[in-house]
Amino acid sequence: MWDLAIIGGGPAGSAAALRAKQLRPDARVLLLDKADFPRDKACGDGIAAHCREELALLGLPDLIADYRPVQRLTVVSPGGVRVSATVARPNHVVPRTVFDARLVDAARARGVEVRRHRVRTLDAHDDHIVIDGTVAARAVVAADGANSTVRRLIGIPATPEKHTAIAVRGYADLPAADDDDAQLIAMQEDGWPAYAWSFPIGDGTANVGFGMLLPRLHATGLPGREVLHGRLAELLPHLPARDLRAHHLPLSPGRPRPGVGRVMLVGDAAGLINPLTGEGIYYALVSGRLAGEAAVQTAGDPLPAYRRGLRKALGRHLRTTDVLAWAAQSSGFIDAAIGTAAQRKEVFDLLVDVGLGAGTVPLPLAWAVARRWLLNGKR
Ligand SMILES: Cc1cc2nc3c(=O)[nH]c(=O)nc-3n(C[C@H](O)[C@H](O)[C@H](O)COP(=O)(O)OP(=O)(O)OC[C@H]3O[C@@H](n4cnc5c(N)ncnc54)[C@H](O)[C@@H]3O)c2cc1C
Repeated sequence: MWDLAIIGGGPAGSAAALRAKQLRPDARVLLLDKADFPRDKACGDGIAAHCREELALLGLPDLIADYRPVQRLTVVSPGGVRVSATVARPNHVVPRTVFDARLVDAARARGVEVRRHRVRTLDAHDDHIVIDGTVAARAVVAADGANSTVRRLIGIPATPEKHTAIAVRGYADLPAADDDDAQLIAMQEDGWPAYAWSFPIGDGTANVGFGMLLPRLHATGLPGREVLHGRLAELLPHLPARDLRAHHLPLSPGRPRPGVGRVMLVGDAAGLINPLTGEGIYYALVSGRLAGEAAVQTAGDPLPAYRRGLRKALGRHLRTTDVLAWAAQSSGFIDAAIGTAAQRKEVFDLLVDVGLGAGTVPLPLAWAVARRWLLNGKR
């Protein structure tokens, strides 16, 4: 009988494993993943500054210290408003083949048993869960990503299409003239919300990609590959990409309840991706940590403690991004927000916090953006 079985070894699953062992070193913790690590994951590889605080909490403050921090962020709004500034706290760009494998290694070093295993069935009993008829655990963390099998097995439907995005990522060589110390996000009016990014890694290459909402992709009537690859090439013509790979992003306005009984959903399986930026690693680390805590600190059903932890850590932020995602359906709202950020550095910092961390929007700022939006004719 395992104290905790975790399904999925991405950032969410590893965070749960690391936290459980950190709090209760004698806990029996099993981590199952259908893949062997290192494994690739379609991602922008952007590790927000906020993630480093989570890594520190997990006892891994130097996990990515050998990667160079990126000091600047440039954002171009759908209407062409441009803001470029030094970020208050630098972000990192670390390929997921490296980042995720390091987390799994750290969990293994802490005494977590890691097994390659694709989970197909779950059976709930009074005080434990049986996985695939062979593994029994008192608590289960479902960290199996955007197309979560476990979420389906416990009867929670997939995120509705209107709250699902799709994005393709690749790698490109950076021309010498390009700014190697700035992350670029270039939004696109056509098919809005849609944007391309270029995130330099620090070795002369960059992670580049393009993402949009699934219904907008379907509305084009064209094959997904043609649209995603085409738009990426159109928006970043000087950065031809290789190793293109796409994946779904379940955005947080469509998030479900965070589990059933002894099964807790975390990270993408819980639909925890920022609807404004597509950032999900930070929420994966936070939710994984909280589920790991609940699993080893609660004697019975861990779900209520996990739900309380999530609400406390992310509740206000998620309500803020729910409202902003609604307003951001109008590209003019984003033009107004970025226009305000271009004039006031504190607004830029705040928007970064909302887009990459657990930030919220104070009323005076909401009013300043809404006023600009109205003056622009509420496009
Ligand atoms: C193109 C793209 C770009 C993105 N860019 C960024 C970015 O720059 N920064 C950012 O913060 N976020 C970004 N995101 C979001 C980010 O990738 C996710 O939020 C993050 O990976 C979530 O982590 P996770 O641990 O929940 O899931 P995952 O990282 O997807 O891990 C899930 C794990 O579960 C395993 N698994 C799945 N099914 C089973 C099964 N049945 N049995 C056993 N194991 C299973 C998989 O093998 C996988 O290892 C991007 C997403 C996409 C698609």
